[in-house]
Amino acid sequence: MDLTVLYRGPLASCDYDCPYCPFAKRRDTPDQLRTDRAALARFADWAAAAGAGGDTLSVLFTPWGEGLVRSWYRDTLVRLSRLPHVRRVAIQTNLSCRTDWLAEADLDSLALWTTYHPGQVTHERFLAKCRELTALGVRYSVGVVGQPEHLAAARRLRAELPPDVYLWINAAEGLSYQDHEAAEWTALDPLFAYSRHPHPSAGLPCRTGASVISVDGAGTVRRCHFVPEVLGNLYDDSYRAALAPRPCPLSTCDCHIGYVHLETLPLYELFAGGVLERIPTTG
Ligand code: SF4
Ligand code: SF4
Repeated sequence: MDLTVLYRGPLASCDYDCPYCPFAKRRDTPDQLRTDRAALARFADWAAAAGAGGDTLSVLFTPWGEGLVRSWYRDTLVRLSRLPHVRRVAIQTNLSCRTDWLAEADLDSLALWTTYHPGQVTHERFLAKCRELTALGVRYSVGVVGQPEHLAAARRLRAELPPDVYLWINAAEGLSYQDHEAAEWTALDPLFAYSRHPHPSAGLPCRTGASVISVDGAGTVRRCHFVPEVLGNLYDDSYRAALAPRPCPLSTCDCHIGYVHLETLPLYELFAGGVLERIPTTG
C-alpha cells in the first residue's frame, strides 16, 4: 500500500504573532512539549516500521503552530527522509528556524511548505532563508496569505525569488475577492483560482480515508483534518480495516491540504510529485 499521512500532534505554539492566527505567540507548557515530543517519537517509530510489509509512505506534518523551532521535528524529518520506504516527508513552516540541519537529510524525499508572513519577518530575512534552501538543494514552496495589505510584499517576494520556486497564494479566510482583486493575486499564483472559493465537496469522491489519512498525537486516525469521524487507531492497526473509498460528508472543503485530494479536481496531476509540499509540476 502507498499511504499518505497528515500528522498533527498536540503542539500548539508559535514564535510568530500573525494577527490572523489563533496560535500566535501561544506558549506550550513544558509538560505539553514533553507530550508532543513523545507523541512524535511514537509516530516516527511507527513510520520507520511501516516499510517492513512493503508499504510506502508519504508524510506531511501540519502542526497547529511552528514545529521546526523544536529539535524533535527537525530530527524526525531527517530520520524519516533517510528511510527508503518514505517517498516524501514534508512540513508546513514559517521558516524561522536555522537551515543547517537540512544538510543531514536525504533531500530526494524531504521538502518544505513554507509561508512568508509579512509583518513577522523582514523581506530580506525571509528571502535570505529561501536562498539558503536553494543553495542546499531543498525542495520548497513559498506561500502568502492573500490579505490586501500583503500584496506589495508578495509582489516583491515573487520578483526576487528564484523563478523556479513556486509562490502560492491562499485566499484569506472570510474574504471574498472581486474579479480585479483575484486577477492581481492570480498574476502572482496562476493557481489562485483553486483557493479563491471553497470547493463544494458533498458526496464527491475524495482520496482521504482510502489512500490518505489524518493522524493525531494519540494515533487516532480520521480521513482528514476536517471530518471528525474516527476510523481507528494507527498503533493497534485498527484503522486499516476502515480504509476504503468514500464520498465527502461535508458541504465544502476550503483548505488546500484537504481539497488537493478531491478526485473531482485535477490537482494530483497539476502537483504530480509535489502534492504534499504544494509544488506544481510546472512550478
Ligand atoms: S506563523 Fe503560522 S502558526 Fe505561527 S502565528 Fe503565523 S499563521 Fe499562526
Ligand atoms: S473533500 Fe475535504 S473535507 Fe471532504 S473528505 Fe476530502 S479532505 Fe475531507
